Amino acid sequence: MSKFYNAKRKRNLYIPDSEIPYKISRSKIDLFLKCPKCFYFDRRLGVGQPPGMPFSLNSAVDKLLKKEFDIHRANETAHPLMKAYGLNLVPFPHEKIDEWRDALGGGIQYLDQGANLVITGAIDDVWHDQKGELYIVDYKATSKEGEVNLDADWQIGYKRQMEIYQWLFRKNNFKVSDTGYFVYANGDSDKEAFDGKLEFDIKIIPYKGSDAWVPEVIKNLHKCLISDEIPKSSPDCDFCAYRNAALELEVNKVSQ
Ligand code: SF4
Repeated sequence: MSKFYNAKRKRNLYIPDSEIPYKISRSKIDLFLKCPKCFYFDRRLGVGQPPGMPFSLNSAVDKLLKKEFDIHRANETAHPLMKAYGLNLVPFPHEKIDEWRDALGGGIQYLDQGANLVITGAIDDVWHDQKGELYIVDYKATSKEGEVNLDADWQIGYKRQMEIYQWLFRKNNFKVSDTGYFVYANGDSDKEAFDGKLEFDIKIIPYKGSDAWVPEVIKNLHKCLISDEIPKSSPDCDFCAYRNAALELEVNKVSQ
C-alpha cells in the first residue's frame, strides 16, 4: 500500500447517531451522484477510491491566475480579460476570500440543520458587478486542439461544481447571479518549437447554472448515509465488475 493511500480509514467516517455536524464537500456530493455505493463505502465504511495523481500543471495555472486576479482585486480594477470579454465586473474583495478558497480549511460552508451536515466547497474566484451581485468563477486548465468548451458529457461535473458554489453563496446570504464563468487555459501544443515554454490561450466561458437540484440531492445523500444498507453498484462502472469477478475467483480458490 502506498504512503498516500489508507485503504481502511478510521477517521472522518459518518456516524449516524453523532450530534456533531458532519462535513460533506462538493466533491463528495459529486461522488454520491456518480455512485451512491462508492460514496457509502467511502464516507460510512472508510474505504475510499485510491486517489489519482495530482495534476501539478493545473495547480500551477490556478496559482498564477489567482495571483493575477488578486492584483486587480486589491486595486478594484477589471482584469484585461474581463475587459476583452466586455464584462463590467471586478474581482470581489472580501475579508473571507482566502477562507473561501482554502480547500483544506473547507472553503465556504453551510450547515443543513435538518440533516446535520455541513456542506463545503472551495472556490477559485468570485467577481462582482456594481450592484453587488456575485458571479462565481472557476479556473480550468487543459491542452487540446481547437477551442475549449463545456460541451462534453463528462463536463457535467464542472457545471454541478459551479451550481453547488452558487447555492453555497446564496445560503451565506449573498446575491448570486445564475451566470458563472469558467476561465479556461488551453496549453498550445502546436508551436513549432517548445523552447522550454508552454503558452496558454485563455478564454472566459459563461455558464448559466441552476442550483434547484441541490437540496433534494442533499436529502438523498443523507438518507444514504443513515441507512444500514449498502447501495447497489452503478451499472456503468467497470471497477465493481472487476472487483466482483476477482473476489469470486479468490473465494472459489480458497474453498477448493
Ligand atoms: S460501481 Fe464503481 S464507482 Fe460504484 S462502488 Fe463500484 S467501483 Fe465504486
